[in-house]
Amino acid sequence: MEPLLDTAAYLVEPESPVDLKSWAPDDDGGDLDRDAAKDRTKALRARIEELQELIYAEGRHRVLIVLQATDTAGKDSTIRRVFDGVNPQGVSVASFKKPTEVELAHDYLWRVHAETPGAGQITIFNRSHYEDVLVVRVHELVPEEQWSRRYQHIRHFEQLLADEGTTIIKFFLHISKDEQAERLQARLDDPAKHWKFAKGDLAERELWPEYQAAFTAMLERTSAAHAPWYVIPANRKWFRDLLVSQIVVDTLEALNPQFPDAEDDLDDVTIV
Ligand code: AMP
Ligand code: MG
Repeated sequence: MEPLLDTAAYLVEPESPVDLKSWAPDDDGGDLDRDAAKDRTKALRARIEELQELIYAEGRHRVLIVLQATDTAGKDSTIRRVFDGVNPQGVSVASFKKPTEVELAHDYLWRVHAETPGAGQITIFNRSHYEDVLVVRVHELVPEEQWSRRYQHIRHFEQLLADEGTTIIKFFLHISKDEQAERLQARLDDPAKHWKFAKGDLAERELWPEYQAAFTAMLERTSAAHAPWYVIPANRKWFRDLLVSQIVVDTLEALNPQFPDAEDDLDDVTIV
């Protein structure tokens, strides 16, 4: 399948300055047809299913997919749509919330390391260790002296994971402030979406510039060849899903997973 879009345009070049404005949140791939894009996402999802089965069967590769986003940018629905249909035995989602007392009693990577994938597994981080340089930075939950050292810890941590055989890809879902307003309003207007509405999100929205600065620093300081960041324009959900699916397929295909050989020659086995 020829890709419908050039995913390299969304890659954050390691060790290069980042200007978030260079990715328009309402990018829709220019002349991409929405229905064609949706069909392609469906085909890519089927391919993810096949590749995941191979990775699980082979039991060799470990794959870590990190999702960070502006509030309401669609982390949950991206996970649901891109990974719909995979075998739950080989895929897990780890959601990182406000740390518990026990978690806070340890270093911030303690709870994160424990959730990293084992052989044959794909793990999706719904939020991640990056919260420790995002919400923690914006709200100064620890002093700057402490959070500013974390970029280097995180680079080293991801290097360790990669050196030991984990493939890492990281997605930042990028929406505009206007789009966020619409999505928050939609949550307010629809009783079936009230459970998703947190008043705290409004307070976070007031800190929009601080968050954009924190996201920029994160992208600039932690994109690496072995753990690349992609900025995913996410105002259009169908475009977001297409782009994430394509990058996941490309990454898994590059691993070239294979079914393992059978234990023995099975030609003369008869089931009685
Ligand atoms: P949600 O993903 O909407 O369920 O919200 C989870 C909340 O946990 C968000 O407000 C995050 O900012 C917060 N959170 C996640 N990790 C951390 C962390 N390390 N320190 C403080 N808050 C966090
Ligand atoms: Mg929330």
